[in-house]
Amino acid sequence: MESKSEIRSLLDFDRDHLWHPYTSISEPLPVLPVASASGVRLRLMDGRELIDGMASWWSVIHGYGHPRLVAALQEQAASLSHVMFGGLTHRPAVELGRRLVALAPDGLERVFLCDSGSVAVEVAMKMALQYQHARGRADKCRFATIRSGYHGDTFHAMSVCDPVTGMHHIFGGVLPKYHFAPPPQCAFHEDWDPEDSEALEELVAGHREELCALILEPIVQGAGGMRFYHPNYLKEARRICDEYDLLLIADEIATGFGRSGALFACNHAEITPDIMCLGKALTGGFMTLAAVLATDCVGRTISAATPGVFMHGPTFMGNPLACRVAVESIDLLLASDWRENVARIERGLTEGLAPCRVLPQVADVRVLGAIGVVELRRPVDAAAIQHRFVARGVWVRPFGRLVYLMPPYCIEDGDLQTLCGAVAATVAEEGAGR
Ligand code: PMP
Repeated sequence: MESKSEIRSLLDFDRDHLWHPYTSISEPLPVLPVASASGVRLRLMDGRELIDGMASWWSVIHGYGHPRLVAALQEQAASLSHVMFGGLTHRPAVELGRRLVALAPDGLERVFLCDSGSVAVEVAMKMALQYQHARGRADKCRFATIRSGYHGDTFHAMSVCDPVTGMHHIFGGVLPKYHFAPPPQCAFHEDWDPEDSEALEELVAGHREELCALILEPIVQGAGGMRFYHPNYLKEARRICDEYDLLLIADEIATGFGRSGALFACNHAEITPDIMCLGKALTGGFMTLAAVLATDCVGRTISAATPGVFMHGPTFMGNPLACRVAVESIDLLLASDWRENVARIERGLTEGLAPCRVLPQVADVRVLGAIGVVELRRPVDAAAIQHRFVARGVWVRPFGRLVYLMPPYCIEDGDLQTLCGAVAATVAEEGAGR
């Protein structure tokens, strides 16, 4: 355990010099120093332990420090930690590609490896633009999407994030203006209402000549509102893209690798997008890596026209360390009964969050796969609520009106109960005006 003065000095430097995600320099929210983590537990420097309800933003599906991932990383580091991907290749990239092509919805056969989720979205959008350009349709250069979406923090990704909850008002001067359909209304478990996708079809039909692709998060809209929509909406989106001659880009960065109860959220609707983005859980949360998968048709079309190549190639493309860990993570997942395990977590979340339903301050409680959401009527005070969660021995980080759980898949029933109990008790206090 670190001494109190050592911890103080770390935190002082952190506060004075380090920028955290979405944080003010002058009034930063408090941060907790983590010494280590294993399984579902974060160990703080002062010796306290927290049960992790966030899987580090969807990514740590096997829990922290899984020995097989640690060993894979160590082995790989000892032989080849990095080499440029231009003109060279290596086993970890090939093995990862093999697995992604085998697992992804049928027809996604071309794999582009890149650095992070936001970059994957940039790559996917660029691919769609280059595809249309190569077909002699450079005029089809605008994107459609649905409101309440989130696709990342880089510029083109921002341009398709929800215009209200996203950052359009600040960067409006430089962000391209794209077309937004209303978000789907029909929830995952509700009866399908065919009217739900009509507005999307109208929007696409109205702009068909200029639309290059529709980009959306399949089934689960994450950081834009934690909403779960009906698989038929996604089926309709596929049909609409085919009918009006645009590509469908599925951003599976949050949902990929079992989180929603299917290996990929697109599987709920049995569709194949033209382009699919993966990230987050790809390496079991060990390190940053993303992949963009495309159909052979997209790849070949781009390659058949000048300049004949896809115009992207980051320095750390196909990093062997990240690819090797991703291979191990995928093998671990497939060797487990992940489907039953995610269903077990779904049952635990449904039962454990049920007491929140009756609270007047709660607008909705919803669960899909290993994702549990309690939507409040008013935004929470982030610093205060975090403090109360930590006091209860759990790590939960709400945003806006949303308190949500997405634990590592290895969470045991007892810890899941503790996590849900902490959410129920803390949300109950919100109403008590604390
Ligand atoms: N798309 C979706 C659906 C996401 O949830 C995220 C991350 N929250 C991103 C893209 C961006 O990924 P990254 O943070 O790795 O850039």
